[in-house]
Amino acid sequence: MASVSYAEDLACSACLTIFTDPVTLPCGHSFCRQCITKFLVRDNPICPHGPASFYGSLSKIQKRKCSTIVMPVFQVAELCPEHEEKLKLFCITDQQLACIICRDGEEHEGHRFKPVKEAAASLRKELETFEQHAADDIHAIETLADIQKNEMFKTREKSQQLTIQIKKQFQEMHDFLRRRENEIKRELKHKEEDSVGKMREALEAVDIVLSDSRELKEKVNLVLKISEPENFLRSWTEGNKMGTSGHVVRPRLNELQGGRGRVVRAVCLHSEKDASTRFDPHYLHSGSLSKTLSF
Ligand SMILES: [Zn+2]
Ligand SMILES: [Zn+2]
Ligand SMILES: [Zn+2]
Ligand SMILES: [Zn+2]
Repeated sequence: MASVSYAEDLACSACLTIFTDPVTLPCGHSFCRQCITKFLVRDNPICPHGPASFYGSLSKIQKRKCSTIVMPVFQVAELCPEHEEKLKLFCITDQQLACIICRDGEEHEGHRFKPVKEAAASLRKELETFEQHAADDIHAIETLADIQKNEMFKTREKSQQLTIQIKKQFQEMHDFLRRRENEIKRELKHKEEDSVGKMREALEAVDIVLSDSRELKEKVNLVLKISEPENFLRSWTEGNKMGTSGHVVRPRLNELQGGRGRVVRAVCLHSEKDASTRFDPHYLHSGSLSKTLSF
């Protein structure tokens, strides 16, 4: 069994034969230089010592998974898998490593190349600039976020202040309206009492005139029953020094219809002055209140 284990230790898990120019990855797994170079260039920089991602049947060693990212790839993938030349160039057009023979091949015709070191230095410089800008950008975005948070806080605070102010103003309006309502009601009651008082006086005057008129009518009725001319004239002139019935009754009626003691009509209880204090819903949408409500 020891001999099998020894053979496995010396076998490349890619080609399953004894190592040729062995290379050991940072994870500790070893491969032939050519095998690992082919794999890493064609796929990705992950150690292939694992599932059936690699060609060939699985050996006992391959059954254990490994997915270590092998960095830097350049150190391992030194040779072009196609031409077995050192990868000294970088094709800018394809963004990939290439050898001198690759450069002259059809696949890269008209492409721009740079030496690997130069390409790496320029990319490094670019990335460093990007990193610096990214740091500046992050700082600017953080500042913006702080400003936004501050604005949110201020808006909430202002809204709370306005809520208190609105509550106070509405309380004042309610108080004002309640006071005004009571004032108008008192005024109305006063006018009602005044008017009804005048009407009562007028009614009393009417009652007196009515009673006088009935009394007079009764007398006239009695006088009219006297047929003898002398007695008729005497009884009327002795009882009434005021003249004919027309002179007695009509003036009283005229007095009621036009003069003092006439019928007092119901007065208009809402004068022009009161109209100005009527509740106007537009009051709530205008004036100083709406100004204080705007943010
Ligand atoms: Zn490994
Ligand atoms: Zn191999
Ligand atoms: Zn090549
Ligand atoms: Zn190219």
